[in-house]
Amino acid sequence: MSAIDSLPPLREVIAEHQLSARKSLGQNFLLDLNLTAKIARQAGDLSECDVLEIGPGPGGLTRGLLSEGARRVLAIEKDQRCLPALAEIAQAYPGQLEVINGDALEIDPLSHLTPPIRVAANLPYNVGTELLVRWLTPKEWPPFWQSLTLMFQREVAERIVAQPGSKVYGRLAILAQWRAEAKIVLSLPPGAFTPPPKVSSAVVHLNALPEPRFPADAKTLSHVVAAAFNQRRKMLRAALKSVSPDIEDHLKAAGIPPTERAEQVSLEAFCALARSLKPLD
Ligand code: SAM
Repeated sequence: MSAIDSLPPLREVIAEHQLSARKSLGQNFLLDLNLTAKIARQAGDLSECDVLEIGPGPGGLTRGLLSEGARRVLAIEKDQRCLPALAEIAQAYPGQLEVINGDALEIDPLSHLTPPIRVAANLPYNVGTELLVRWLTPKEWPPFWQSLTLMFQREVAERIVAQPGSKVYGRLAILAQWRAEAKIVLSLPPGAFTPPPKVSSAVVHLNALPEPRFPADAKTLSHVVAAAFNQRRKMLRAALKSVSPDIEDHLKAAGIPPTERAEQVSLEAFCALARSLKPLD
């Protein structure tokens, strides 16, 4: 019998440990182990990797990651009630699962991980976007992770992979696509979760590129893009006035018509604009 077969079904685990889902913690659990294995497979070859999982809950995806051959999983879970269920999984996979009880926004997991590292998570949505932005904006590139495989609300997933001209193209798309390859690899209806959320979800897989797609200073790019999309309906010469008094000249130097709106500007052109401006300290 394989390790995963020795564990009780997740519905039993939830009943036994009284893990009634808490809205405040964004708890929508995946109980179908075929599905969690499928998500784990989207993360790539895990056999040589440590996997960082945020929000394992009762451990559906954790089981998927381990059964798909992860070398080690480090799981950070805020809800103490989930710890006994996760301890059962750790017992079935000796030495392969470490669980930290705490808030992923406050814990630095790096001292617990050995590269190469992949990240996989079915996260509460608010925490997910914040962590994604942090993972995409480290001081140094390449980052600590090789890939991120993350569940989001479908609408957020679409913002991550959006292209110019799309209504959802914005800062998240630029941040994600500048230094990573991002694609939606799986779509899930609300009914895949217990309890079902109000909206559909999607898994996004991001592979870190060895270096940025186009050269630019990270802070300047981030500043320009935030300003441009903050007033996305305005022409860029107006939306970016606060960035530089000579913004029209910089836009022209980057090959961007000053009357263009942020939604139409490619990643490459935003990088050219960031290069034309003085780097921020
Ligand atoms: N991964 C499990 C699954 O797929 O069934 C649970 C997913 S549920 C959407 C999100 C999980 O993240 C919950 O277990 C919740 O307790 C946990 N969580 C919420 N906020 C967190 C935080 N700040 N740090 C770590 N875990 C958190």
